[in-house]
Amino acid sequence: MNGKQKLKGKNILLTFDDGFNSNFLIAEKILKKLKIKAIFFVPSDFIKINSSSKARIFIKKNILDQILPSDFNFVKNINTTNLKKLIKNGHLIGAHTKTHANLALISDNRKLKNEIINSAHNLEKLLKIKIKHFAFTYGNYESISKKSLKLALAQYQFIYSSLRGNNFKNFKNDIIKRDAIYLEKGNKLLSIFLSGILDMRYFFQISNINKFIKKMYNK
Ligand SMILES: [Zn+2]
Repeated sequence: MNGKQKLKGKNILLTFDDGFNSNFLIAEKILKKLKIKAIFFVPSDFIKINSSSKARIFIKKNILDQILPSDFNFVKNINTTNLKKLIKNGHLIGAHTKTHANLALISDNRKLKNEIINSAHNLEKLLKIKIKHFAFTYGNYESISKKSLKLALAQYQFIYSSLRGNNFKNFKNDIIKRDAIYLEKGNKLLSIFLSGILDMRYFFQISNINKFIKKMYNK
């Protein structure tokens, strides 16, 4: 993805979005034993919260605006201490805006900068690391506005969408494709996603975005 080394064989990169503490539990209880490292994309305002009730208010307002899980009362954010543990164990932390806003719906430049750039600065200050990875919230084509992409490109080295596909033939700076998986839907659907059968649906959207990125870098 940085154009420096060619991967051989079958490779997979696991990423977790939104900064729920369950992500941390999965890292501790499952990934550790399997020696798998992952990237955790967190909204910087969310991970600063230190009360469960405030976390639930944030989630309702900004992350899960409609369907709440049955165990919603146990849901909370990952805190700074646990994020530091993840870093210590070799995982990466990436930015996922400040408030989990849909960036395509923000026209005000100051607000957009606050979400895209200040979120990285906040995480860097809090965790004392450099933040190079950014995942668009929602991550579908409609949520990736040109204005927000331009700002993200200026700040980050690696930018992730939720557009499906593999990254074997990526060029440097290309938008990174991801296959969202749903725990409750089982492995059969997951194998369909990973087979690549649905990737064609995203082909034109992805090439449009990559054309825009190339143009930005040629200027
Ligand atoms: Zn998200």
